Amino acid sequence: MRTPAFCRECLQFRHLLFNSRQSRRCLLSLGDKHWPQSELTQKTRLSIESAWSDRLAALDAAVVARQNSNDSSDNKEKFYILCMFPYPSGRLHMGHLRVYTLGDVVTRYQRFIVGRQVLHPMGWDAFGLPAENAARDRGLPAEAWTRDNIDAMRQQLKDMRLAFDWSREFATCDPEYYRWTQWLFIQLHKSGLCYRRKAYVNWDPVDKTVLADEQVDADGRSWRSGALVEQRPLTQWFVRVSAYYESLLAGLNTVRSDQWREVAKMQRGWLGKLDGTWVQFVLLGLDGKPLDEDLQVFTRQPASLRAVSHLEVSQSSCLIARFPELVSDANSTSSDILLPVRAVNPVTMATVSVVYRPSLTFPLEEATECRAVAPEFDVGAAASPADNMVDRLGISRPSPTLTSAGLFRADVGGGLAGLPADSVEAFDSALVELRRLGAGGHRCSALRRDWLVSRQRRWGTPIPVLHCGQCGPVTVPQEDLPVRLDAEPIAPCPKCGQPAERDRETLDTFVDSSWYYLRFLDARNDKKLCDADKAKKMMPVDLYIGGMEHAVRHLYYARFISHFLHRIGVTPQPEPFDQFLPVGLVLGRTCQLADGRYVPPDEVDFDKSIHLPSGRAVTVTQDKMSKSKLNGVEPGDVLRRLSIDTTRLCLLASTAPQSDRVWDEAGILSGVVNWQKRLWRLVTDLHAVGAEQQRLDPTVDNPDNADVARLVSDRRKTVAAALRAYESTYAFSVAIARMQSLTSLLLSASPEQRRASPLWLESMCLLVYLLSPMAPMFSSELWLGLSAQLGSSADTKKLFDGKFRFDRGVVEQLPDEALAFARLNN
Ligand SMILES: [Zn+2]
Repeated sequence: MRTPAFCRECLQFRHLLFNSRQSRRCLLSLGDKHWPQSELTQKTRLSIESAWSDRLAALDAAVVARQNSNDSSDNKEKFYILCMFPYPSGRLHMGHLRVYTLGDVVTRYQRFIVGRQVLHPMGWDAFGLPAENAARDRGLPAEAWTRDNIDAMRQQLKDMRLAFDWSREFATCDPEYYRWTQWLFIQLHKSGLCYRRKAYVNWDPVDKTVLADEQVDADGRSWRSGALVEQRPLTQWFVRVSAYYESLLAGLNTVRSDQWREVAKMQRGWLGKLDGTWVQFVLLGLDGKPLDEDLQVFTRQPASLRAVSHLEVSQSSCLIARFPELVSDANSTSSDILLPVRAVNPVTMATVSVVYRPSLTFPLEEATECRAVAPEFDVGAAASPADNMVDRLGISRPSPTLTSAGLFRADVGGGLAGLPADSVEAFDSALVELRRLGAGGHRCSALRRDWLVSRQRRWGTPIPVLHCGQCGPVTVPQEDLPVRLDAEPIAPCPKCGQPAERDRETLDTFVDSSWYYLRFLDARNDKKLCDADKAKKMMPVDLYIGGMEHAVRHLYYARFISHFLHRIGVTPQPEPFDQFLPVGLVLGRTCQLADGRYVPPDEVDFDKSIHLPSGRAVTVTQDKMSKSKLNGVEPGDVLRRLSIDTTRLCLLASTAPQSDRVWDEAGILSGVVNWQKRLWRLVTDLHAVGAEQQRLDPTVDNPDNADVARLVSDRRKTVAAALRAYESTYAFSVAIARMQSLTSLLLSASPEQRRASPLWLESMCLLVYLLSPMAPMFSSELWLGLSAQLGSSADTKKLFDGKFRFDRGVVEQLPDEALAFARLNN
């Protein structure tokens, strides 16, 4: 027996590897004494894998290297598939393995079967609070902890034989990466989309950082530290996402709807109904001097802003934290209080009163805390009549000339006078006017405010701003980027040259991950975030795969940044992801005794719900895997025990990718292993016929015969289900079920069919072929078994000429003929 040698030089390597006449290591070579009775044992599965594993890795690396070297000249149709990059927490879990397996299967299909130029990169979402905390607990620098984790996790991914393009790898904590995150911030700032304002923020006193509203639970505690969250006034950077709401909503109509349907619904729900606008009212003290905070008012009748008599703030407003003594006197919900501040109406520049109204409430999901009241128009009449309030508190009404002369400045356009304030025309014209005044005016919903991007943490992208006593905040010039984590705290102001203080805060990690899909296209470019031609060629991401839990916020920020980058000419279209496949969790079976103690699942008889060592009853539930619940499994252990391909099939079979799946090893495994054994038997049985007895006789495939008709129909359904799964639904469980049924049908064939039926042989080849992206090593071994038999018989060579090529490994099939064959014949 000859062991195939291979050379790292790709051509040489392929020639040696895939010429089956030279590499006769097929299933027979496992030992003639086992054949033809040989069973597929666990030992065989593992030995197949050890024979193929390095070759597969070398093949993947060679294909990627060849593709990257032809980057610009390759005219193949592109396919960009991206799995969400992981947070380098130290180890991969089964959820990662599930997502990456799906990505790998589609990659292999698109690359080897369809023949597209596939980009499938991997990197690290490396900044963030957990690293900072973990490093602090261990007395290590955050960077050292993160880099160690990245090394360990990269090795794990390589051990899984996933076909990533490692030449494009980066971590968001690389200065070469965050330099462009900073550049992005500066572009947002230049475009007027970044602003600073004092705001009361959710402050976690343990982690010492600001939390987003979504990170505070219903009891007002931090999602991470569990501490009671405080409200603190801080001057923060915000990004005006509100300016893009209309664009973000419209964009949802342009993405492919089959996978996006649910996610688009979630995105629409998150954006809310765009039926109003946010308007900023600057606050003045009673001395007439501006305070360092403002009120953001949501109004559905912007056309009536000119007639606003006062603002009303609710108990949820952070403004009242400024006046604790006033508010504590007003515990009774009946007493409205005129606050000792005034607000500047951005439309008229007149000052108006601000009233604290304890009885005022807003729907819980809304981000609103105050409203503008225009008695003439009775805005928000749901509360008590505004007139009553105005008279009772002695609030001065706006001058009648202001309200009757027109809803807005009578000298602009003039057409608004007399329009009903609630008309569409008045609404639209008011927005135009507000935008002109720089006071908001973007169509928004009451659900979302602008994106607070400052974080009081060190392990993040430094905000590229210098605070100058003379010039205020000034962004760092592009040539001085990156501003490194260890940059000197004082630097000359880029405008006046005086010493200025660096912004000490860092950007929300959602900013880091809002554009990484572009960097993979041009990861080593030190002149640009991404070359426009490369973006034009490879964007959008054809398939984005990741956890369902990221289907709202991450996607919202990533889409926003992509829409922005499109508007400034970096990307060819606004939407970054053509399809998004949300993947459910991998749950563990959780076994708990009556006293609350958890026991490991392998000590439990699930049929009887009994803990075997103690004989006590257990309650079995399905929960997210965790160490404390003893319900987790390590991906590395599973792969070593079951083999990579068997684990892949277990992750793909029986559950749709979008659903949570319970890792019930015994249950899933027996089904998958049984199927593998039956596939194995198909090939060993074929060998029992012997190549010299293979005499093809097309008359055996008489379509009037019911068995033949059934095989034709079953094969058609199998190919259709598999292609549908690979190309659009990703419902591999459905494809696998069909392939299993075709396997059974093929196994039931008579010796005559095995010897003579072209249909039967073709169907078997097709089955192994369709399996190859899901189980590349196992199917390669089957293919070698087939090629040893069929490739040497003159009869079958004629049959398969131009359909399958037996002198190549299955993972390297020439795509076009085979797919055309599959389609034509089904
Ligand atoms: Zn200056």
